[in-house]
Amino acid sequence: EAQIALAGRSNVGKSSLVNRLAGQKKLAKISSKPGKTRSLNYYKVNPDGYFLVDLPGYGYAKCSKTERAKWAKLIEAYMRDNPQLKAVAVLLDSRLSPQKLDLELTSYLRSLGIPVIPVLTKADKPKQRELAKLQSQWQEILQQDRAPVLFSSKTGKGEEKLWNLLCEFAQL
Ligand code: GDP
Repeated sequence: EAQIALAGRSNVGKSSLVNRLAGQKKLAKISSKPGKTRSLNYYKVNPDGYFLVDLPGYGYAKCSKTERAKWAKLIEAYMRDNPQLKAVAVLLDSRLSPQKLDLELTSYLRSLGIPVIPVLTKADKPKQRELAKLQSQWQEILQQDRAPVLFSSKTGKGEEKLWNLLCEFAQL
């Protein structure tokens, strides 16, 4: 089946997002997938039937070079030659301007021809004006027609929109 991956720097709010989605009973965790490394968490999305694949967070502040290389290796192994992977939802902290590691990841995905679904997390925090500015910044960087989804695990903002987008890409 089709897969959509979730990626983002540590502390971006990825577990909160997954928990929020799981709380809506739309996700069922697959305990283990044969042949796949344990650091990838697979969720089956019902009733659409595609998989959400939760990738480990990257760029943790205290992360050593070896750790980072490990992450890159794992991600590369997963993403390369994976025709099931339809898109990667890249979670971006809406309180921060575009970060180096996020730019690296998105350009890497671009080089592989994998669509990026940008999601600005913690969107309950910044002012509307700041969010709009960040949205157009990312839109420019990614050269996309639509603005990044504004998402908040706290308020549920953007949840429906995100679901619809994921579903749309899973069907491509
Ligand atoms: P992860 O490391 O990417 O899995 O991030 P977590 O989901 O653990 O969240 C990191 C921190 O951000 C925690 O302190 C959360 O409470 C906070 N956080 C996560 N989502 C939101 C959100 O939507 N709004 C706000 N205000 N804080 C959030």
